[in-house]
Amino acid sequence: MSVLPDFLIPKAYIGGQWRDAERRFAVTNPATGELIAEVPDLGADEAREAVAAAEASWADWRKRPVKERAALLRAWYEAIMANQEALARLMTLEQGKPLAESRGEVAYGASFVEFYAEEAKRMAGETLPSHGADKRILVLREPIGVVAAITPWNFPLAMITRKCAPALAAGCPVVIKPAEATPLTALALVRLGEQVGLPAGVLNVVTAEKPAAIGEVLTTDPRVRKVSFTGSTPVGKRLLAQCAGTVKKAAMELGGNAPFIVFDDADLDAAVEGAVASKYRNSGQTCVCTNRVLVQAGVYEAFLEKLAARVAQLKVGNGLEEGVSQGPLINPAAVEKVQSHVRDALDKGGRLICGGEPHALGGTFFQPTVVADVTSEMKVATEETFGPLAPVFRFDTDEEAIAMANATEFGLAAYFYARDYRRIWNVMESLEYGMVAVNEGILSTELAPFGGVKESGLGREGSHHGLEDFTELKYVCIGGL
Ligand code: NAD
Repeated sequence: MSVLPDFLIPKAYIGGQWRDAERRFAVTNPATGELIAEVPDLGADEAREAVAAAEASWADWRKRPVKERAALLRAWYEAIMANQEALARLMTLEQGKPLAESRGEVAYGASFVEFYAEEAKRMAGETLPSHGADKRILVLREPIGVVAAITPWNFPLAMITRKCAPALAAGCPVVIKPAEATPLTALALVRLGEQVGLPAGVLNVVTAEKPAAIGEVLTTDPRVRKVSFTGSTPVGKRLLAQCAGTVKKAAMELGGNAPFIVFDDADLDAAVEGAVASKYRNSGQTCVCTNRVLVQAGVYEAFLEKLAARVAQLKVGNGLEEGVSQGPLINPAAVEKVQSHVRDALDKGGRLICGGEPHALGGTFFQPTVVADVTSEMKVATEETFGPLAPVFRFDTDEEAIAMANATEFGLAAYFYARDYRRIWNVMESLEYGMVAVNEGILSTELAPFGGVKESGLGREGSHHGLEDFTELKYVCIGGL
């Protein structure tokens, strides 16, 4: 039994108050099924209260000198890093990812707080050439207002800081609705914010076992000016439709179907390392996870052999144990989805290279799996598996690979390995994706704009683009000069 961080308060946080409720719901460890804690099961009334508290804090927060907001963010960053180990253990407990990955996520999540503490100071407006000698044009960049942040369970910390840090930096208060599977990391994070002196109301967390009632308030209340959602495409579409009634700005970080293309001039060993990192990280449960591996005919069998040998080295187990590289899946439904994709591929002529079954550890553990000779008729070609299955397709020409890669309604991340520079430029420019990694298996950083095209989303998080998304421009015309 692991100990929870001593600073964690397993209650909701509204207007600077820790709030309990008669109804609570259980947070369990996906590796063991054990109960970790119970948190309040809130609904529409508490969501409205949180919006009101955020709205009430806005006037003061937006007017604070930017250096004051920046200093508070910097202090929050330092508190997160000072508690990296405790936060990482908590995250592994409720989400399952190996401890090394949790530590990495804490550092990655904290990096957004550090970055926006600095970037806030560069949030500039402008003056433009005017249309008359007696007039001047000013463009003010102002905070958009109350932000609702709705986040998924697969990155319980980083998906929150990626939204809250730029929002707070820009002068916006936030109401967070964390995923029901992983609310504790959110609450621990906000508790650290309280301890470093973030004022009451600028960060609020409403927890619920069923999200629809809170989601309804956050997407329809006119006081909420922006909804920033990370999660699945079907839920994103629903929230986007709900936002239409009050014409809310909406940022949508949705699902993906990432291709990983290996050309015949690639460094195969590097490509295998990249494929393993982008496929099996977080047990295949990341939005930018490789979903389809496309390999050119000339290196197809050689790549498969090297990939199988590397995948055989992955150690499956409880993420709290040393040396584990793949933890459990989040719940039984996730196992069922992976299993159904494997069965469908094998039924339609796929060749099992390794894995393919639930792991002997039982529970929600699944074997790291590779299936070869995959074709476009199989489910894995079009659906996000969200699990440790690498389906390997074969292609002959560059044009064929590009067409296969783009044959999806998603457009989040794409990866390819090649050496020829003409090929690199051609493929890079032809991929219809928001993010492309060339000879790299991991691309997330606070320094770059993260986001997708097509049904993978709207907006960008990270870099100066991520800050601008939490602002509005106000054109001021000064006449009579
Ligand atoms: P999900 O869409 O089921 O849930 C995401 C969040 O939305 C959760 O907090 C959930 O409680 C909430 N939610 C669900 N229905 C809602 C409703 N009606 N109103 C308000 N809130 C509601 O997604 P998930 O299973 O938690 O996460 C996995 C998905 O997220 C995958 O599709 C993955 O690709 C995607 N994802 C995308 C990114 C990205 O940056 N593009 C990052 C991580 C995950």
